[in-house]
Parts: sequence; C-alpha cells; structure tokens
Amino acid sequence: MKLVEFKSVKKYFPIQRGFLESMLTKDKTFVRAVDDVSFDIEKGEVLGLVGESGSGKTTIGRLGVRLIAPTEGQIFYGGKDIAKIKGAELRKMRRKIQFTFQDPTSSLNPRMQIGTAISDALRLQGIGTNEEMKERTEKILDRVGLHPPSTFYDRLPHQLSGGQKQRVVFARATILNPEFVVTDEPVAMVDVSIKAQILELMMDLKKEYDLTYLFITHDLATARYVCDRIAVMYLGKLVEMGDIHLVYEDPLHPYTLGLISAIPVPDPKAKKSEAIPEGEIPSPIDPPSGCRFHPRCPRAFERCPVEEPELVDVGDGRQVACHLYT
Ligand code: SF4
Repeated sequence: MKLVEFKSVKKYFPIQRGFLESMLTKDKTFVRAVDDVSFDIEKGEVLGLVGESGSGKTTIGRLGVRLIAPTEGQIFYGGKDIAKIKGAELRKMRRKIQFTFQDPTSSLNPRMQIGTAISDALRLQGIGTNEEMKERTEKILDRVGLHPPSTFYDRLPHQLSGGQKQRVVFARATILNPEFVVTDEPVAMVDVSIKAQILELMMDLKKEYDLTYLFITHDLATARYVCDRIAVMYLGKLVEMGDIHLVYEDPLHPYTLGLISAIPVPDPKAKKSEAIPEGEIPSPIDPPSGCRFHPRCPRAFERCPVEEPELVDVGDGRQVACHLYT
C-alpha cells in the first residue's frame, strides 16, 4: 500500500535581489531545488534518498512533512493531498508525520530541559495530564536507551553527548506514535563509533512502531545498511531508483556508479569503477541544458547536452534517467 506519493513536484525558491539589480531587470530568478519529481513510498518501507549536498534531498523531506509547500505538483499521504488537509485532520496528520533534523544540537532548544522538549509534542496535541506526559516521556527516554530516564529528564542539551542528543531527537519524533518519519542525515553529526548504534535504534523503532522512513543521506554505504529501496538525486532531479541491492550491485546511471565507486573499500587491490569527475555540482539557479549531469559525466555524448532524459522503467522495479538506456 502506498503511504506517500509525490506527483510531478517542483519547489522553486525565489532569489532576493538588491534594489539596483531589480531595477535593471524585471525577470525573477529561482533556485530550482526540486524540479518535477515523482515517486512513492510503500507503507513499512525505508526509502533512502541520496545525493551530494545541493541535490534537493532535504527540500524533498521538508515537502513530505508539509514544512514547506510545493511550487507545483501534489504530495499525497494515505491517499489525501496534504496541501488540502485542514483543521482537526491536519492536527491528526501532524501526529502521524515526523521529521528529524540533521543537527541534533541546533534542533534542541539549549535552555529547555530534555523532558520538556520531548513532552512538548504531547502538550501541543493536548494529550494527557502532566503526570501522564511525564510518565510517557520517561518511557520513551528509556526506550531510546537513555537510562535511567529520570536522570536525563531534567538535563539540558549541553549536558548530553552527540549520540545522546540524537537519541533525544528520535524520542521526540516517536512519542506521538507516528507512521511516517523523515530523517535527515541522522548519523552525519555523530562519532563513527556510535553510528551503528543510532542506526540500530532507528531500525528497532521501525519494528516496534511499524514506521515508514524517508532516510536522507549523502552516504550510500549507510543507506545500504538500512534501506529497502534507494532514490538517487542530482541537481533537483531523480536519476535512478530501485531495490537497494540491485542498485548497489549494478548501478546503471553514471552518477550512481560514481557515488558507489567513491565508497572506501578496505581491500587496496579492489578494482575501482568509474569515479565522479572532480568539480562542483552546478548551480540549481541555471542548471545545465539537456541532462543536468552532462558536464561531469564520463559517458556523455552528443544527445546529452541537448535533450533531457526521462526517468524510465528498465525492469525489476528500477527506473533510470539516462540516454544510455533509451
Ligand atoms: Fe551521462 Fe548522457 Fe546519461 Fe546524462 S544522459 S548520465 S550525460 S550518458
């Protein structure tokens, strides 16, 4: 069953210009953060959204939980267009959909005690008495591995390690029994030594609460550990999508191939496949013509700068946007 559906979604952010510049030209310019993206997430699935920074991954995540509205297109949650949900139904949806931000330090109020930060979600939804909220908060603190919970309840964020803060973030996201969690780079800011523990916690919570995740990461190696399917983004577009093992073992799009070949391998004799050529991701204000990856693609040919490739099915539930496959 499809839980989340993105249909031809675009998100353009207007660029603020100085007074003189706006006098000289009337044309508005936009950052095309997400440019005509369609995909689904099945209930209970972990979909990994990967790509370099600037590819539009975080914007997709924010759109998926209605933190921002699309410029064009529709996003459905449980079959309903989330832009049209209002009032009590919106409050109910807010309970079901949660977002965890990349930096746990900046997502926690430095002056708010951990217990209050977590139970605030219950307070805002009008759930339970003060005593019930405290009991439920201590239970979730214990569940995310912060025990004994009473010793964490009154602490301030600066009294916690990076890994403990990330556990608090997951406690806050799950206290309302959500269905769908968008988690943005959940292990990017924690030590390598506790990365596996956080991912394990994430997957334990998934089992216990029957969660569906949109897992945003730049790290394909981590995605392989937790995801069922993967969607690769480049400059606001989806370029490849499919079962994580199929994509990982046999990447089709030259960009996916480059990302996978950039993953360090412990064997120095291991054969390296094509890496992404050096160079910055181009500006999403004025993306390259045709295939947006063509200035960096080692396999580009005449058709690539003039014609934009469509995302097409190539069998086994895989999709790819590259002229090599059409
Ligand atoms: Fe490379 Fe052309 Fe495929 Fe784009 S369409 S990824 S430039 S081969």
